[in-house]
Amino acid sequence: MVTTHTLGLPRIGAQRELKFALERYWRGDSSASVLQDVAACLRRENWKHQAGLDFAAVGDFSFYDHVLDTSAMFGNLPARAHGRGETALDTYFRVARGKSVSTDPACSHHADTSAGEMTKYLDTNYHYIVPEFSMATEFALDASGLIAQIRQAQGQGVRVKPVIIGPVSYLWLGKDTDATDRLALLPRLLPQYVALLQQLTDENIDWVQIDEPILVTEIPVQWQHALIIAYKALQQCPVRLLLATYFGRLHDNLDLACTLPVDGLHLDAVNARADIGQVIESLAPHQVLSLGVIDGRNIWKTDLHATLEWLEPIHRQLQDRLWIAPSCSLLHVPVDLAREKTIDSEVAAWLAFSVQKLDELRLLGKALNEGRVAVQTELVANHAAVESRRRSARVHDPLTQAAMAGVDAALGQRAGNYALRAPRQAALLQLPLYPTTSIGSFPQTAQIREARRRFRAGEIDKDAYDATMRREIARCVEEQEALGLDVFVHGEPERNDMVEYFGEQLDGYAFSQFGWVQSYGSRCVKPPILFGDIHRPAPMTVEWTRYAQSLTGKPMKGMLTGPVTMLNWSFVRDDQPRSASCFQLALAIRQEVLDLENAGTPIIQIDEAALREGLPLHRSQWPAYLQWAVEAFRIAANGVADTTQIHTHMCYSEFNDIIEAIAQMDADVITIETSRSNMALLDAFDDFKYPNQIGPGVYDIHSPNIPTREAMVALMQKASRHIPAERLWINPDCGLKTRTWTEVRPALENMVAAARTLREAL
Ligand code: GLN
Ligand code: ZN
Repeated sequence: MVTTHTLGLPRIGAQRELKFALERYWRGDSSASVLQDVAACLRRENWKHQAGLDFAAVGDFSFYDHVLDTSAMFGNLPARAHGRGETALDTYFRVARGKSVSTDPACSHHADTSAGEMTKYLDTNYHYIVPEFSMATEFALDASGLIAQIRQAQGQGVRVKPVIIGPVSYLWLGKDTDATDRLALLPRLLPQYVALLQQLTDENIDWVQIDEPILVTEIPVQWQHALIIAYKALQQCPVRLLLATYFGRLHDNLDLACTLPVDGLHLDAVNARADIGQVIESLAPHQVLSLGVIDGRNIWKTDLHATLEWLEPIHRQLQDRLWIAPSCSLLHVPVDLAREKTIDSEVAAWLAFSVQKLDELRLLGKALNEGRVAVQTELVANHAAVESRRRSARVHDPLTQAAMAGVDAALGQRAGNYALRAPRQAALLQLPLYPTTSIGSFPQTAQIREARRRFRAGEIDKDAYDATMRREIARCVEEQEALGLDVFVHGEPERNDMVEYFGEQLDGYAFSQFGWVQSYGSRCVKPPILFGDIHRPAPMTVEWTRYAQSLTGKPMKGMLTGPVTMLNWSFVRDDQPRSASCFQLALAIRQEVLDLENAGTPIIQIDEAALREGLPLHRSQWPAYLQWAVEAFRIAANGVADTTQIHTHMCYSEFNDIIEAIAQMDADVITIETSRSNMALLDAFDDFKYPNQIGPGVYDIHSPNIPTREAMVALMQKASRHIPAERLWINPDCGLKTRTWTEVRPALENMVAAARTLREAL
């Protein structure tokens, strides 16, 4: 018999119940016990969804983040959070609700400095609170929260498999706050894990899932040793351990993973399928193998027939030692497709959200245990859906295919090199030294949001909506005239989101109504679904840009989202390589770029906010990714004449390891996030001579603070030690849509004044 289980479910609720309950509680509009009730209810629902599986996951629920829960369980919340006479729950939230280092422009700006740092969990868009470690760190186990949840599940008749983060990955995910190497804390941490596993045994638990995702990354040899030491120490516990990895292949860690003294391994059989054969050969006779055969990172129906073809021989070989599950926690996909009413029915038939993926898992289990005949009807229906997607004219567009056949390196090559282009552009644009500009969006005011809401609700028609947007654009132009900026933007009032706005205008994209995925805490995102060949039926931004340019004599920057960012912030096709989807997006954006140029737009900015976060987990795969990502950008951008200036923008500042790829994009100007790092990132530009122009952000738009002229002058002076002044621009870190005009106006006034000061000094 095959065993079925999951690594975890989404915790936000099908209607984002947790989000709303949390925000009510934080506002002081409801009590802790109301919040606890909502949580208990969500867990109950999730266990119901897992009915019929051999195990249900417990420990996957969290009020904010399960890594932070782990810190709390081991008594490792930062000392500064304690001693305020709060409840444990409020202390937990104090650590949680910090300023984000994410790239999400809408992210929070809590002034409370005692909050923990937040960063992305491996290569996902889920952000966790980074554990803090120092020489003084002492651990003290308090598993009461987890145990209460286990008892709740057992009370519901569920066979429980607790899910915890392994000790080595827990340390790895954290940061050192002093000179301590946190790996040195392992001997202090391990007894706590032993005690935890003992307590779980006392709760009648026989299997525990212990996640060591560190195994899919490159780890120094000391960390490899640490895994051996850790699992030898945990071996003494009576409970059985299923060691889980996901998201990628094991690479150099394969042998290590197979020799750890655990009772079973879980592997991502979607992304690491190529490892499975070797792992099966290396398994000890007592070990189970859990195969994650359902994609926990994407929203497509599983091809059950193909999966069974692959699984059945493995099942014959391993028999009772085979387990099956989704590839990873379903945290990364939306909750329930059944709630969707507006995705077009053809596309909807190809999708599976978390609830549907559990149905698939049960079907696979039954097919393996009782033979395919036992689920014949379901298999036929699944096959029909898979075939319909494979053949659909909505997915396969001959026009796009023909255009793709014509893609070659020449498409990404600009006519002249930078040295030739720069003087031509300068002659045309007539910009002063240290030109001032912004990154694109201006504040999304209450009027803009209200107009959008009313338009969507059908209360106003398109003409009325467009008129409001034109008024907003005119206002942005007036504001920029008054401020005296050098290069203008239209302000992006018509855009709700920089990916969704373009996706909605492209064939090949679909949108869910409720397809929310947790990004961090109570924040969720609703990634668009890239399902088919991309085609741009009509220009997307040209009219808005043309209108904006008609209002001013200053150069207007056209504003687009780049192909790599479109790709990385969407659910994408699994029936072709990511690079193919990216090139299709590039071709569509290229047409838009050329149309903007034809409409007389002198400068075009193509945002690649998410280029860096698409980097694969394993460094060995970086060059391949960077190669096609850069090529896609070049195809999108580089069809223009030498006189048209191409800008790109990136929402981060760690460039050291990818600076050559950035240079290969060959944008005339890049704007980047730097103000918070105090220009430290510009070190990258010392070793590698970045040849083109650069605008290091001087205004931290994630903060309500208004930077002074002096502060911005100082930052730019620092920058000019790395990059000659003739190639520097002055701009904020990112778009201004989350700020208010009362913040933006004085900040940009100071920025323009800073530019003047710098020019005078030269
Ligand atoms: N042009 C976009 C804006 O200003 C860029 C946003 C981003 O980089 N995340 O809003
Ligand atoms: Zn940005």
